Amino acid sequence: MDSHLIKRSDMDFLSRSFPGLFVYATVWPLLAWGAGLFQLNFKLAFFFSALFIGISAVRVFHALSTPFLYNKNTQLWRIILLGLAYLHALTLSGVQVYFIFNDQYYDMVILTALIVVGLVSGAASSLAPKLLFTQIYIASIIFPIVIACFLSDHYRYLAPLFLVMWVYYFLMCRRYFNEYNRAFHIEMKLKDNQRKLERLNQTDTLTGLYNRQYFDNALDLQWDLASRSQSSLSILFLDLDFFKRINDEYGHIIGDKALCHAANIMRETAKRKSDMIARYGGEEFAIILPSTQHSIALELAENIRKHLEETPLIHGELTIKLTVSIGINCVVPNNQRSCLAFLDQADQALYQAKSSGRNCVKSYWDTFCESQR
Ligand code: GH3
Ligand code: MG
Ligand code: MG
Repeated sequence: MDSHLIKRSDMDFLSRSFPGLFVYATVWPLLAWGAGLFQLNFKLAFFFSALFIGISAVRVFHALSTPFLYNKNTQLWRIILLGLAYLHALTLSGVQVYFIFNDQYYDMVILTALIVVGLVSGAASSLAPKLLFTQIYIASIIFPIVIACFLSDHYRYLAPLFLVMWVYYFLMCRRYFNEYNRAFHIEMKLKDNQRKLERLNQTDTLTGLYNRQYFDNALDLQWDLASRSQSSLSILFLDLDFFKRINDEYGHIIGDKALCHAANIMRETAKRKSDMIARYGGEEFAIILPSTQHSIALELAENIRKHLEETPLIHGELTIKLTVSIGINCVVPNNQRSCLAFLDQADQALYQAKSSGRNCVKSYWDTFCESQR
């Protein structure tokens, strides 16, 4: 069983057994009160009522401690949970056995049997997440009663009835457990497929980089985050140089390989977990660099440019040289600045790099701010 399923079954078991605590805490005291047991034998009625209510109260307290105790000591949490549930089961069978062996409680035997049947039937379905526990739990309620019935003079006829019930619930437990597991696995598969679809929705299928849609959303988010934390946000716009020629000279398939090659170089160079590399369109790429100052962005852009220049695509006999032009922009976002203008300025820097002869890095800061000084 994987750890995810174990935790899920623990939590499901807890929540599914929770309503039972209130049944245990109320049903027997109500029965004892209604059947006049408090008048007949106050100590006995009080003792069992207090026991049922007391165990329920501790179980409620245990359930409330789950957020703290489960992560701290899972094993202890589980031992307490199962131990208290067994205690409830043994108390229930204890009441029944007591009545079977004491003739003056003749009327109570059938009434308590009804409670036993109700609780066991509820347990078989609601405790489905833990098969072995539930089977032992049911057996620990029914078997002491079966033995007591066999040994008593009046209730021997009840023993086979309880045994038949036990066989029925034993088989039903397994069925409920299998259904629970099947539902869990279907749910996991659906979640996994959803994750895959989401990933596919964000990915450019050719290069495996993020796609344009992801880039747009991520940039909006990073802009807001940088604005809130007043940190620098940098962006790189990259465009492969004379890429049309590669397609014309070597064909589209090699052209696609060249795009993947350039994407890999970007991946190898922009290694920080927070760096987001996207295929912006065609042979254009964009990299979002959160919390990155201008000098660092410039250094990274230069590294990518150099790395690509020095690493040609080797395909069989072919050695294809690739170069890239890069435009940079860096800003600490505020109310006077817009994300759209930020993008446009990076694009202007890229245009500047192209018109300066390509295979170079230009920054909006250097090219435009300085020219206005
Ligand atoms: P420049 O240096 O000015 O950027 O020149 P360029 O040839 O790279 O520019 P242009 O934008 O004219 O050409 C881009 C080319 O990129 C045109 C197109 O054939 C090619 N291209 C765009 N997307 C793909 C693709 O998915 N696969 C391939 N093989 N080629 C692509
Ligand atoms: Mg282009
Ligand atoms: Mg180009």
